[in-house]
Amino acid sequence: MSDVARFYGLQINRSGMACCPFHNDRDPSLKVYDDHFYCFGCGATGDHAGFVAKLFGLSQIEAAKKICADFGIYLFDRQFAVAVDPKVKAECDYRMWLHKASKTISEYLTKLVNWGKVYAPKNFNVQPHPLFVESLTKRDHIEYLANILTYGSDNEKRQLYSSCREDIMKIRERLDKFSAAERTVKRKAI
Ligand SMILES: [Zn+2]
Repeated sequence: MSDVARFYGLQINRSGMACCPFHNDRDPSLKVYDDHFYCFGCGATGDHAGFVAKLFGLSQIEAAKKICADFGIYLFDRQFAVAVDPKVKAECDYRMWLHKASKTISEYLTKLVNWGKVYAPKNFNVQPHPLFVESLTKRDHIEYLANILTYGSDNEKRQLYSSCREDIMKIRERLDKFSAAERTVKRKAI
């Protein structure tokens, strides 16, 4: 179940929870068990084929075929990938993006706030640290994005989806680099 869920984009945390793609889920409320999933938010449940069926708007048997095709398992005599309902797929992509974007922006905002304190110049003679400058220049805009992602209307969020997807992806990549660097530092410290 978790292999399938991960393969189709769910981010499962250590306790087996993920943000539910079937409702507007801010904190992970979908639990992935060995053989099924259950969402404590919207009650969505099913096995791995049920998950894929719901995600792509397929019947149970079509979903099973899709999983086989995507995982390179030929149970169905090489019958290939079934067409996915593009509307359902687009909606899922959007929901998945929304979870990721909210997380990214709130992480980045925490960093900006922190940099504003940690790298504040001690006196006016020194060149300010670039991360301090970044904190000053970016914070308003990122607060604005965080606000929309948390409290905005569906329409506003969809507008971000079409206008800011690239930018937020770049922030994500950068944050990932930061945490990779932090992990290295921690390892060295040990
Ligand atoms: Zn749900």
